[in-house]
Amino acid sequence: MAKFNRTNTEIAHVYRGTFIHSTQQAAVQILEDALLGVDTEGKIAFIGKGTEQDRLCQTFGFNLSEITQLAQHEFFMPGLVDTHIHASQYSYAGTALDMPLLQWLNTYTFPVESRFKDLEFANRVYTKVVRNIFMFKTKILTHFENDFGQRALVGKVCMDRNNSVKHYKETSQESQEETCRLCSGVLNVRKVLKHKVRLGLGTDVAGGYSASILDAIRRALESSKVLTIQDPEYDTLTFEEVFRLATLGGSQALSLDDQTGNFEVGKDFDALRVNVAAPGGPIDLIQSEEPKILLEKFLNLGDDRNIVQVFVAGRKVVPFTDATPE
Ligand SMILES: [Zn+2]
Repeated sequence: MAKFNRTNTEIAHVYRGTFIHSTQQAAVQILEDALLGVDTEGKIAFIGKGTEQDRLCQTFGFNLSEITQLAQHEFFMPGLVDTHIHASQYSYAGTALDMPLLQWLNTYTFPVESRFKDLEFANRVYTKVVRNIFMFKTKILTHFENDFGQRALVGKVCMDRNNSVKHYKETSQESQEETCRLCSGVLNVRKVLKHKVRLGLGTDVAGGYSASILDAIRRALESSKVLTIQDPEYDTLTFEEVFRLATLGGSQALSLDDQTGNFEVGKDFDALRVNVAAPGGPIDLIQSEEPKILLEKFLNLGDDRNIVQVFVAGRKVVPFTDATPE
């Protein structure tokens, strides 16, 4: 049975095909041969079955010829949410990650931050960041530890496995200086989730080397395996769970889940159109695969060659063109 919102009646786009997203109940929910309508405000107006298209056409007043049909090996998934990135650090992403933290701050962070008074430089860096993170919808956060000042910032990146911010708050910066590096241990995500903490993924550029949440997904899966190696009782995270962290979980962590994070009527249409078998892409599909395998392959092997289109609040922002987005 189709779900829809009668208040927004004017439909701008209708898509038919496979939609994959997370819900509170299911880490991965697959909607095969679904029909999704986006209204002129970029919000999801209805989600139904492809077989219901005649009735939905009548209810919402669009023509069958306006429906965009996804190709084989294509699916829509929610836009990936980066809950934590230092945009001002983007110019030195991927460098000097083996440096002790304070040396790194003094060599890169502080000198580069002072360059942002040059607006041309600031414009260049931020334009690149926005283009690379697929998310225009930006909410500015800071480390919560920064309330404690610089000393606690050091504490954050040196957090022990008990995540004891308080401990480091009470420890002098000097005593931490020698041991602090750009790493903070491996978070026991399973334990955090059990406590119903809202949790998403963040790239943490430039402490994290890559601005891609796909990389963060892979690191999260590998880190979880490391915890299992250390403790065979540890229940390794599944790719489905990490997919949810990267989408719905991230939107919840940022308190944006009333607007984005999955495909629900009334939310913004924030989506990636993925073609797992994109020509020239990194994935070789030897045989046809079910949608869940396609998702898993994309998360593990895919890159932007597989991301055919990106939509933010219904507007197509990838591929970039000089023309006004649809
Ligand atoms: Zn950070």
